Amino acid sequence: MTFKQQLIDWRRELHQHPELSGEEVATTARIRHWLESAGLRLLPYSLATGVVAEIGQGEKVIALRADIDALPIHETSGVEFSSHNDGVMHACGHDVHSSVILGAALLLKARESQLAGRVRLLFQPAEENFTGAKALIKAGALENVSAIFGMHNEPGLPVGTFATRGGAFYANVDRFVIRVTGKGAHAARPQEGNDPIVIASQLVIALQTIASRNINTLDSVVVSVTRIQGGNTWNVLPENVELEGTVRTHNADVQRVVEKRISEIAAGLASAFGAHIEVDWFNGPITLINDEKWAAFAMQVAKEAGYQTQTSELHMGGEDFAVYLQSIPGAFVSIGSASEYGLHHSAFNPDEALIEDAARYFATLAEQALLIK
Ligand SMILES: [Zn+2]
Ligand SMILES: [Zn+2]
Repeated sequence: MTFKQQLIDWRRELHQHPELSGEEVATTARIRHWLESAGLRLLPYSLATGVVAEIGQGEKVIALRADIDALPIHETSGVEFSSHNDGVMHACGHDVHSSVILGAALLLKARESQLAGRVRLLFQPAEENFTGAKALIKAGALENVSAIFGMHNEPGLPVGTFATRGGAFYANVDRFVIRVTGKGAHAARPQEGNDPIVIASQLVIALQTIASRNINTLDSVVVSVTRIQGGNTWNVLPENVELEGTVRTHNADVQRVVEKRISEIAAGLASAFGAHIEVDWFNGPITLINDEKWAAFAMQVAKEAGYQTQTSELHMGGEDFAVYLQSIPGAFVSIGSASEYGLHHSAFNPDEALIEDAARYFATLAEQALLIK
């Protein structure tokens, strides 16, 4: 079997047996088996799911990370190797990322005696719920690592295209819940209450002014109200309305301003309408900040490998890789996967043609990074 076919077969096997975040037991067993069969050294970390392996000898360690979890989505892609696990799907392409890093592992193993140090391979569980990176770090997976690299496939880019950027890349992903409590009334006698539906409506409109009137137009910010719930019939004004939404930013100062303005607007409307408004703010995944030097290095190696390279736009989504970059430098990169349907779509179908080249790229990237002082 060719190297390319081996990687495609592994990817398809993972694709047929997707598992949700934190439940990647069979996926872990498969990856362990494939790595062990190729003679790789597994590190004895105590992990419920996920695998860490290492190649080479010496002080210096470069890490490559793949994520291995899938999503609660019923697959409609129609591919012959569709999910056997109904309601669960590799709709983010983590099966592709895993096969890329498995391929890099085989290539590096073949060059083990020439490596100027060690390459550590992190097959990370639970990316989608942003808990896996923390678990691997706690287990010790970053010990002695001097730089870390990882990828996401990018359905909007053609195969053979590579993009990254230095500095902020993926977003801070925060969530808010706002509870408006007023006084209910008969729908025909609104003067006897203070209609929380009208207050909540004002709130939705006023929150739109944060992005348009409080933040520099050159900074990135999204404020979206995604749920609004209140009332249960046509002739009663309710007592309560609840709103929920998300805020995306790339900069901690902007993030703080948004949080502060939401509270101020809520307090102002509460006072104006004589209601009680409570805001709960939940900090989610942090912004992913690529090291400038390693991002430029990753781009240069991609160019030499024959990729069409470009500077990536900012992503408004979150990525758990950000947590590694809080402790050690490195770079996260995008590789074109040319899918008509996007990430997290039930018909997502990345082009497998990217896998072999990406595996060769990551092997070269790790080997060359070991040579950098
Ligand atoms: Zn995802
Ligand atoms: Zn993903």
